Parts: sequence; C-alpha cells; structure tokens
Amino acid sequence: MPRGLFVALLGASVLFAPGPAGAACDDLGGEAVQGGLLWGRAAPGSTVTLDGEPLPVLPDGWFLAGFGRDASATAALVVSGPAPCERTLAVAAREYRIQRVNGVPQRTVTPPPEDLERIRRERALVVAAKGRRVEEPGWLKQVVGVFRWPALGPISGVYGSQRVYNGKPGNPHYGVDVAAPAGTPVRAPADGLVTLAEPDLFYSGGTIILDHGYGLSSSFLHLSEVGVSVGEEIRQGAVIGAIGASGRATGPHLDWRMSFRGRRIDPQRLVPPMPRAPGEP
Ligand SMILES: [Zn+2]
Repeated sequence: MPRGLFVALLGASVLFAPGPAGAACDDLGGEAVQGGLLWGRAAPGSTVTLDGEPLPVLPDGWFLAGFGRDASATAALVVSGPAPCERTLAVAAREYRIQRVNGVPQRTVTPPPEDLERIRRERALVVAAKGRRVEEPGWLKQVVGVFRWPALGPISGVYGSQRVYNGKPGNPHYGVDVAAPAGTPVRAPADGLVTLAEPDLFYSGGTIILDHGYGLSSSFLHLSEVGVSVGEEIRQGAVIGAIGASGRATGPHLDWRMSFRGRRIDPQRLVPPMPRAPGEP
C-alpha cells in the first residue's frame, strides 16, 4: 500500500474518529504531530482556519495544515462555508535530543562584525523566497505519498534536535542530514519552482529553495554545486545540484529542510524509511 494512503487511513480511523454528521471535521489525513502535515477535504469554496490562521484551500476544497517543532498540544480546525465543521486536534508531542557538532568553522558560530550585514541581507533573501505564493494544486498534493529522498546515505542529523556548535548552543536543527560524498547528485524530492539558487550563503553555503506551492517549500543546504536558476520549474527526480560541505558544516552532507508558511516541517515524515546501504545489517 502506498505510504501516503496508509497514513491517510490511519489518520482517518485512529486520530480522527468521525463525529456527529456535519459538525465534526472528519475527512482528514496525514499527521497531527509536531513537524507534521495534515490535509483534508472541505466543500469547494470553504474557508479553513487552524487556531484562527487561514489555511490554503484548493479550488476542489483540499487543504493543508502544518505543525511546527514546538506546536502546542491542541489545535482548533474550523471549516466555514457550505458544509461547516470544527475539530479540536490533539497534536502529538515529540522528544528532541541534544546534538553536539564540533569542528564547524568558528566564524559560523561567532560571526565577526564585518559579516553581520551579509548575514542580515542573506536572511532577507531567504524570507523573500519563502514568501512567494506559487499556486499549483498538483504540486501541493504531492505531500500525499509522493515525495522521494533527494539523496541516499546515512542519516547524520534529524529534525528538531537542539544543536551545540563548537560548544556554543545554537538554533535547533530543522532539517534531515544525509551524509554522502561531495559531488553526489541532489535530486528534486517532488515537483516545484526554484525560488532561490545561491552558490555561497554564509551559514548554508550553496543553497536552493524549491517551492511546492501555496507556501510549502524544500531547502537544500551546503551544496558544492547549484545546478538550477530562480524561475525554473523542476520535475521530481531531476538533478538540481551536488552535495558539499559549504557553510556551517563539518563534512559533506545534504541538509534538507521544509517549511510551510513560517512553520518548520520535518521532511523525513514525508518519505519512506532510508534504504539500507549494501552490506549494512
Ligand atoms: Zn544539517
């Protein structure tokens, strides 16, 4: 069974038992969990909010919600329109470990004053790229069982962990790290539009942002090669760059991150388990 379908069925049967007809939203799938995505169906023309914040609703009524790393234990889903419904979602909490990373360039831990302006400028570039709204319903629905790993290899970092760089506590880690030799191709995990393609950002080195529509995006960090340009439409599986160790990194790896409208999503929950390498037990 495709994983997405399984998750959808699980979601419908376990997490969201149907309520009184017309009153409780029950056409839901995905995962109400920190770092997870939840999708559902409402009547076309509905408006949908999560804790009061409007969610994107596709012309056919399909909608998507995302939960950040520290999302609170409950969230109120409200559908207004031809078939109104409401649901208080229980959002599963996760435990995050501390990960100590030693040997990153010290200037990326305590940036010298002359780099602060560059860091500020680059942050604005990333915010602008993620702020684009690309309305491609087919792309957004790829979250249902379609995403593929952009590269294969041992997982050396996970979503949410509290990072300590060269002994100094830093921001949590929001990506999944895949260790592989420099030059290993990075492939698009799903279709999207390139909204940022930078060869050398201060923290993330060679960086690509691929927008999957309606505010859902993937970012690929520490690349040695950026093989696409802003404005290109990319098909799933196409090579977009190569793994590297640029920016705040200790060795070659791909850091794949996802965000949805300002919330950091865990990419690992959208793909099958990482296949084992030949000879691995
Ligand atoms: Zn990383």
